[in-house]
Amino acid sequence: MIVKPQKPLHWAIVGGGMLGLTLAHRMSAQGHHVSLIEAGDQLGGLTSVWELGSVTWEKHYHVILLSDSRLRNLLQEVQLEDQLKWVETKTGFFTDGQMYSMSDTKEFLTFPPLKFIEKIRLGGTIFYASKIRNWKRLEKIPVTKWLKRWSGKGTFEKIWMPLLRAKLGDAYEVTSASFIWAAISRMYKARRSGLKKEMFGYVRGGYRTIIQRMASILSERNVPVLTGHAIRRVQKNADGKFTIDFADQPSQEFDRVIMTTPSTVIEKACVDLTDDERSRLGSTQYLGIVNASMLVDKPVSPYYVTNITDGWVPMTAVIEMSNIVDREETDQKSLIYLPKYVPAGDPLFEKSDEEIRESFLTAMEKMHPEFSRDDVSAFRIARARNVMAIPTLEYSKSLPEQTSSVPGLYLVNSAYITKGNLNVNETIQIAEDAMDGCLKAELANHKVGVATR
Ligand SMILES: Cc1cc2nc3c(=O)[nH]c(=O)nc-3n(C[C@H](O)[C@H](O)[C@H](O)COP(=O)(O)OP(=O)(O)OC[C@H]3O[C@@H](n4cnc5c(N)ncnc54)[C@H](O)[C@@H]3O)c2cc1C
Repeated sequence: MIVKPQKPLHWAIVGGGMLGLTLAHRMSAQGHHVSLIEAGDQLGGLTSVWELGSVTWEKHYHVILLSDSRLRNLLQEVQLEDQLKWVETKTGFFTDGQMYSMSDTKEFLTFPPLKFIEKIRLGGTIFYASKIRNWKRLEKIPVTKWLKRWSGKGTFEKIWMPLLRAKLGDAYEVTSASFIWAAISRMYKARRSGLKKEMFGYVRGGYRTIIQRMASILSERNVPVLTGHAIRRVQKNADGKFTIDFADQPSQEFDRVIMTTPSTVIEKACVDLTDDERSRLGSTQYLGIVNASMLVDKPVSPYYVTNITDGWVPMTAVIEMSNIVDREETDQKSLIYLPKYVPAGDPLFEKSDEEIRESFLTAMEKMHPEFSRDDVSAFRIARARNVMAIPTLEYSKSLPEQTSSVPGLYLVNSAYITKGNLNVNETIQIAEDAMDGCLKAELANHKVGVATR
């Protein structure tokens, strides 16, 4: 009997962020016929770059942790591991109008805002969280309740509460304890080795280098990359294929579709999903960000991150990227980000650039007496509404199946990160798990040749 080889499928991967890029890279490496579809005019999504004065860098700050093994494997695959640079960093805390260094155990033990017993409870909470393996039970407990239980009222009010508010806005009230567990686990892993010093890394040239390298590999493999293609509708036809309609481009047909965009986009575009699937997608609560970047003539602090617990400061933190990234990369200037995390519907998104700039720079001048807005040579504001799905109570149960009710339509976005906080390493894991899970059978059934690179 002659077995007829299965006809190769044409896969649409919707969303050209790190998730879609990883899928396109890995699937094309196995010889699958994929097209990568991206609404923006460049690839990268949240890791994409822009020009800030004389410097081209990410709209949102990114660092790599020593423990980001999946990301490091990917960098090795695309031959960029040797471009990684590791730097020891310091952390600051701005609390009660004062700046403190909180970069090692000694500084932690002498941190004045907390009494000795409060420090013990804070350290104990972090240590205990780092040992928890059964994170699913934390999904049932509000983060506020869990932190009060383990850290006590004083530490909660002085440290955790302001940090939660800064990081999640009012959404902290509906967030489960798995959020803080995931954040602590990631930071704990980052400091696990050696002297518990914090080491962060970046690839020379930043994510621009990574995205460009991945795009050039896709191009060598003749993978169509359709930037400027914002999808409007994904519909299954009677012949089993999918038609994708775009906002400003002619429609195209594909055999299979993988959606990596935010759940809110999937809910609106994928019209064949059941009411239950669409309601699950539509009820995902997203955390957004209003993120200013600026180039300053002089360094502002020795810290990579300055956490802020004083409620009057309009930013969540100060991120001085130049304490990691070599100044040669940033025209000898200090590259600083001033992020404010807010829920996707927050009125801050409607404020003008001028209003935001004024409030952020005024706060910087109060926090750092040596800082002057006269030293700022470039200032831009990035806004992203759908950054991270908020892990609400029993969040993992609220997600629809990744193999959707529509045969051939798969849901593989970052909202499926259930036991971690949003970061590129977790994002890559979602892509890898999908290829080993929901996509596995179809990829095996339609096996094809392996690409040369
Ligand atoms: C301020 C900030 C700091 C961060 N810091 C770090 C860090 O230090 N380290 C770290 O590892 N990670 C960090 N991250 C997280 C990291 O950026 C994300 O994990 C990762 O970029 C997510 O990739 P993604 O592909 O899932 O999503 P996205 O990057 O959001 O990609 C989704 C893509 O879908 C596209 N899209 C949306 N709608 C449509 C449509 N209708 N049609 C076609 N395309 C569409 C979007 O344009 C986008 O390109 C940070 C994120 C932010 C915002």
